[in-house]
Formats: sequence, structure tokens, C-alpha cells
Amino acid sequence: MNTLNADLHCHSVISDGTLTPEELAQRAKAHGVTLWALTDHDEIGGQARAAAAAAACGLDYLTGVEISVTFLHQTVHIIGLGFDVHNAALTVGLQQTRDGRSQRAQEMAADLARIGIRGAFEGALKYAGNPNLISRTHFARFLVETGVCKDTYEVFRKYLTEGKPGFVEHRWANLKDAVRWITQAGGMAVIAHPARYKFSANEELALFTEFKGHGGLGVEVVTGSHSSAESTSYAATALEFGLAASRGSDFHSPFESRTELGALPDLPTQLTPVWQLLAERIQRAATPAQV
Ligand code: AMP
Ligand code: MN
Ligand code: MN
Ligand code: MN
Repeated sequence: MNTLNADLHCHSVISDGTLTPEELAQRAKAHGVTLWALTDHDEIGGQARAAAAAAACGLDYLTGVEISVTFLHQTVHIIGLGFDVHNAALTVGLQQTRDGRSQRAQEMAADLARIGIRGAFEGALKYAGNPNLISRTHFARFLVETGVCKDTYEVFRKYLTEGKPGFVEHRWANLKDAVRWITQAGGMAVIAHPARYKFSANEELALFTEFKGHGGLGVEVVTGSHSSAESTSYAATALEFGLAASRGSDFHSPFESRTELGALPDLPTQLTPVWQLLAERIQRAATPAQV
């Protein structure tokens, strides 16, 4: 069960990835994935296409999303898996979470103009497959295209992050709301890439405790954002808090992502994989005998 090649975290052109849901499904299949979820930021507009593409190439599928949350003045990402895409409260909540991205992007561009980088809003928008979901990733692509930085990793070291040019503080969803939207739509909430946050030990304890209190059930342990030491550390956290464990590449683009779809270590054997608890929510691909 823990050796299943599940990839439950990636992005398409519907948010800040560069491939379509169909291209991602085919790429996941080609890299040996058997259970897949598309988890665009704050947006489920790609879910029907992803599920259809998964069925067409013989992949089991879980609906997915990655919700931006503000917790103790930091941005935390909460993955939702296996929810009903037609749920009204989830749809409205995601819409509210997306609102304000355009205004934020204008402010980011104004801050970059202040240091002589002009035309960043229009430049970033060109990369946004979905203009309502203009994100820092699209600004990063513009800064690489114009030669300001050599790659997007350099961008996030020098720009667009706290204290650096182009950063604009933003208020996302509440942790409680995000977890409830997901769980009340029949899905499971999962803390994404916990090692990426800069919380103190006490703040992290508050995050896990409140997340569980609101009904959250999982944590990403094996992700493209974690080193193997970080995976080991959050495997222990999953056991300590009684959380199921998830696995996902966080793939965005063949040219930018360090981790390929499905190319991850297995989940440690002592953990309960999220797909065990979500068995009823998996959209099963037809077996060859049924085709
Ligand atoms: P946004 O939702 O507009 O704040 O954009 C956040 C996105 O930027 C993430 O989902 C990543 O795709 C990308 N990103 C890449 N590196 C970093 C980094 N070091 N810090 C924050 N975001 C990053
Ligand atoms: Mn992203
Ligand atoms: Mn994330
Ligand atoms: Mn992600």
C-alpha cells in the first residue's frame, strides 16, 4: 500500500504550472504514476479535464486543490483531496480566496517599478493561463525572460519574498475555513510541505494542533519540497499527531521543477497513506478487461 506510485500534488496552466491537465496526466502515466491528483492553487476549474484525462490514460484519480491560508502571519498551503467539485461552499470559498490576486499583482509590479523593473504586471500576465490566478510564479517567469535572474530559484532568493523587492503582504483564507470547505465537501485536508514554513517549534505545534482541531487529517511527508531528512522528521510528526501521510511532487513545469511527476521515495512503511482513508473517493480507471 505504501509503495503505490501516488502523486497527489502538481499544478497545471489553470494555476501556475506550464502544462495542461491532459499533458500532466500523460506525463504522470509515462513516469509510472498509478494514482494522481491535480492540485491547482485556489482553483478547481481544471478538475473535470484532469479526471477525464486520467480515465483516458488509465490513471486512478482523486480531486485536488491547494488552498492558500494565512496562519500566524505566514502563508501556509492546505491540500484538499477527494472532495466533491460541485460543493457550493468550497466553490465560493475558493472564489473569495482568489479575489485580490489581481490587485496584489498590480502592487507587486509597482514595487518592482520602484527599483527600475518596468512592465512586470503585463509581463507576468502573459504567462498566466488563468488571469484570475496571477501568481508570483508568473512574475518569476517574467524576471527570467527579461534576464533579471537566470532561473526562478534565483528570483525567489532575490525578489518576491518577504523583505525583497516585489513582495506584497497578502491575507489569504483562514485555516479553519479552508479545512472546513474541504472536509464538508467530503474531502480530506492535508498540510502541504510543512518543512517550507519558517515557524518556531511553538508556532508549528499551534499549526498542527489547530489543523487537527478543525478536522484536518493528513500531512505531506514525501514531497518535492522536502529533503530526505525533512521527510524523516515529518514522518515522526505524522505519527505523533495521528495524521495520515501524503506524497506528491509539486511539479509545475518540465523546465523549472526539480522533481519529476511520480519520481519520489515511497512513504515510510509505518505511516497510514492518505489514499487508504480516501479509498471510497478514488475515481478508478477502467481495468483493461473492462475496456
Ligand atoms: P503565490 O501563490 O502567488 O504567492 O505564489 C506562490 C508560488 O510561487 C508557489 O506555489 C511556488 O509555485 C512558487 N515558488 C517557488 N519558489 C518559491 C519560494 N521560495 N517561495 C515562495 N514561492 C515560491
Ligand atoms: Mn505554485
Ligand atoms: Mn505550495
Ligand atoms: Mn504546490
